[in-house]
This record gives sequence, structure tokens and C-alpha cells, in this order.
Amino acid sequence: MEEKKIFVTRSSMPPYEEYIEAIKPLWDSHWLTNMGEYHQKLEKELCDYLQVPEISLMVNGHMSLELTIQAFGFPEGAEIITTPFTFISTTHAIVRNHLKPVFCDIKASDGTIDETRLESLITEKTVAILPVHVFGNICAVEEIERIAREHHLKVIYDAAHAFGETYKGVGIGNYGDVSIFSFHATKVFNTVEGGGVVCKNHALYEKLYNLKNFGIRGEELVSDIGANAKMNEFSAIMGLCNLRHIEQALESRRQIESLYHDLLKDMDGIRFFDENPDVKRNHAYMPILVQPKDGKSRDEIYDRLIEKGIHARKYFYPLTSDQECFGRQYQCEELTVAREVSDQVLCLPIYEGLQEEDVRSIVKEII
Ligand SMILES: *Cc1c(COP(=O)(O)O)cnc(C)c1O
Repeated sequence: MEEKKIFVTRSSMPPYEEYIEAIKPLWDSHWLTNMGEYHQKLEKELCDYLQVPEISLMVNGHMSLELTIQAFGFPEGAEIITTPFTFISTTHAIVRNHLKPVFCDIKASDGTIDETRLESLITEKTVAILPVHVFGNICAVEEIERIAREHHLKVIYDAAHAFGETYKGVGIGNYGDVSIFSFHATKVFNTVEGGGVVCKNHALYEKLYNLKNFGIRGEELVSDIGANAKMNEFSAIMGLCNLRHIEQALESRRQIESLYHDLLKDMDGIRFFDENPDVKRNHAYMPILVQPKDGKSRDEIYDRLIEKGIHARKYFYPLTSDQECFGRQYQCEELTVAREVSDQVLCLPIYEGLQEEDVRSIVKEII
């Protein structure tokens, strides 16, 4: 008998008929991309949902980040202070812009950048801070803003994990100069592939528009050296459909998370990241931290789960600063907490529709 496999995530999808019905008009219009009707509609609905004044949709989260950094026009070789405890996209976006990532340690309490260490890393080359709301844990946004203002730095949040979250009742996209979101198939809200940028400064949207559409400003005018990073209409419609069901998706995740918590909270050697009571959370991920004990560690739990067909993931291990592609260029000794967290973290399966019995059997294996 083929053993059932459980992966760390599974894409939320609207009912088949709903999507098929929704894409029908495309067979009349034949308008499939290039800022079409559904692209505009999704932008509007996302502004409402995220409580932000404006958003620019993109082909994916990575290009949102890469083009946003480009849009600022930082001088080559400038430094951006960032976290190594993230998906590789964050670091790639800096390096692909010919800028230098300067890695800051994180906090053991929630995995976000340690704001108390930021100022010691600022040099005359520093132009921006790029923190990540990792696993939907919100960074110390007020203190980061104070530091950035004092040192005239931009703040670019990688909010790929923080879709729909609020901090002190305010949509998370409103913090910093820019926040980028990912609508990848594996995220809480998906457009198959997709992303979005929310900016404080309206002029930045104009620049981003150019960068996502070849810089084309008229039939005979190209005003910028742009790329192509537009969201297509099939993706936009997927987003519109998924957005209709988002509350149900979040509620399903909330219940799963709460069950994991109940079943694991008294277990010696396992802890969770702290929850911030000021945050309305999206339950996107289910990270646990495994303290090594009697020679048992995170890796053994990971291997044991794999044997049982349960594909938990070591997000984020290794640190991006240690990845092979960068050689030793950006390596940094002072990432003690990040290394420790990265060695202990394990993301357990969580997604809309994961069954209670599956959560119970995953926990049984862990115990
Ligand atoms: C998913 C993700 C991205 C990239 O988004 P894509 O839509 O997959 O390109 C960037 N940063 C983080 C932290 C992510 O998790």
C-alpha cells in the first residue's frame, strides 16, 4: 500500500467551478495580461483587505523585492542590513542588485532581526534596513523606524509571511518605507505565483510600474530600463477567488495551530516562538524549536517524520549568509543566536484542511 504523505504545506484553492466560472470572461475579452481588468480589481480588493492605500501587483514576491530595491537607486556597493534567518530570496534580492548584505543577529524569542544590534552595524555605506517578519512574527517596527530616521536609512520589510496581519490594529504593510508580499502557491494567500509591493511614497509606484513593464510609457516611449514582472489575469482571478475564502482558510490554520500547541506545550525540550499580543496573526507557519537533549536533536525528529511520510521542513537552515553561492563573502561570526535558532527550528505541516487526526499522528511521532 502506498503510504500517505503529508507535506509542510498545501496550496489553498477555490472550488473548481468557481474558478472556471470566473475565468470565462477572458474567452470574450482575450485580454490575458498587461494590467487588465482583473489585475486592477485584485489591486483594489487587496488594498481593502490589507488596509493599505495602494499596492502594485507583481509576478512574484521575489521580483517585488528585487525591483523595489532597484527602484531606490542605491549606489553600487552600498550596504543593506538584513537577517540571515530567512528564505534565500531576501538575500538574493540584495546581491542581485550589486549591493552588500550585512547580516544582523536575530532574537531567540521570535526569530526577527535583533533591533538592539542594528546601530552597531551601520557604516557610512549603509543605505537601508531589510528585516523580515519571519513566520509572521512582526519585527520591532517602532524601534527600527526610530533608528532608520535617525540615520537616514530606508526600511524595506520582507512581509512575505505576514499577509493580512495587523500590528496594533494597523495593516502590516503600512510600516516602513516599503513592504513586499508574496502570493506564491505555498503562502497563506496565493495567486499561483504572485506578489505585491506597498509603498509610503507615491513616486515609488511610478518607478515600480516602469520596472515591471519594460519602462514602457507610451507607444513610442521607453523611459526606464525595466524588466517584465507583471501579474497575469489568470493569476489575478485566482487571487480574487482565494480572497473570498481567506477567512475560512485562516480559521482552519488557527485551529490546527492551537491543537499543535495544546499537544506539544508540556513537552520537555520543545518550545515555540513568543506570540506578540499586539499582532493579529495569520498562522502561516508552525515552527517549533527543539532543544538538543540526551543527544537527541531537531534532525532526528526531522528524519523520523520523513520515515513516516511526514515532510516537515528545516526553515530556515542553513542561514542564508552561509549558503554556498555566496562563498565566504558575507559570512559573519556574530550570528550566535541565528545559528542556534537555525539548528533548532522545524516547521511542521500546517495548511487549510489538514486533518486533526493527522496533527495527532505527527505529534505522536515527535513525542
Ligand atoms: C516566499 C518568500 C519570498 C519570495 O516570494 P516568491 O513569491 O516565492 O517569489 C521572499 N521572502 C520570503 C521570506 C519568502 O518566504
